[in-house]
Amino acid sequence: MMGQALVRRGAAAMAVAAACGWASSLAPGVAAGNVGLAASRQTVNQAQLVSAQRGPVAAPPRKIDCRKVKCIALTFDDGPVSGTGKLLKYLAARHVRATFFPVGRNVKAHPEMVRKELAAGHEVGNHSYTHADLSRLSTARITSEITKTQKAVRAATGFTPKLMRPPYGATNSRVAAVTKRLGMPQVIWAVDPLDWRDRNSKTVESRVVGHARPGYIVLMHDIHPTTVAAVPRIISRLAAKGYVFVTVSELFANHLTPGKKYARR
Ligand SMILES: [Zn+2]
Repeated sequence: MMGQALVRRGAAAMAVAAACGWASSLAPGVAAGNVGLAASRQTVNQAQLVSAQRGPVAAPPRKIDCRKVKCIALTFDDGPVSGTGKLLKYLAARHVRATFFPVGRNVKAHPEMVRKELAAGHEVGNHSYTHADLSRLSTARITSEITKTQKAVRAATGFTPKLMRPPYGATNSRVAAVTKRLGMPQVIWAVDPLDWRDRNSKTVESRVVGHARPGYIVLMHDIHPTTVAAVPRIISRLAAKGYVFVTVSELFANHLTPGKKYARR
């Protein structure tokens, strides 16, 4: 039953991928058993970028079975900033897909960066509009923080985020109710290297690598150059341990419930 469902979803993803020109992103290396660094080798061409004005350009999840391989989801919060471009280059050079949780007002300031994130096959979520502590806000203001960012990402890319991450991981029953109503799961994390406090690439690297476990979501911030500088070695060392880098939706095979919190698989 489960197997059939997975096969059907896979077939649907393949059809969407072909239609969107994402077929080459379905990681043939994974099927062949080469799970090391298989990921998005392609970038979207100009025609596809133009089509971003009309509809979503997000890559469909690849067929990676995180029940069988050592998956890990790297996530980057609070951007985009101009330094996000460097991070995108590091990720592309190693064929790694990640998940970005941008702040709405930064999306407005750097819309081209969010387009680049999606075009490279990364997942883009929602991290509120002003990086507010949502647990201290009214239902109306929580709703506005989230929907303003949905609109900003949609205006920049044509894509509407499916995931949200509350700033500071601060959530409560009101935030859960709003995200449930908006159809968005709350993505927290299992590894926090405190990269906002300790601006030291070596420290960030050793904390992420030391605390990584299969199925974990790792929190980092692309607004800190020290974090971005740590990423190449984090990827090399985790890849050497056999980890496969997946987006959050891939980690859960798209089985996420709106309003619920997720920190690991
Ligand atoms: Zn944040």
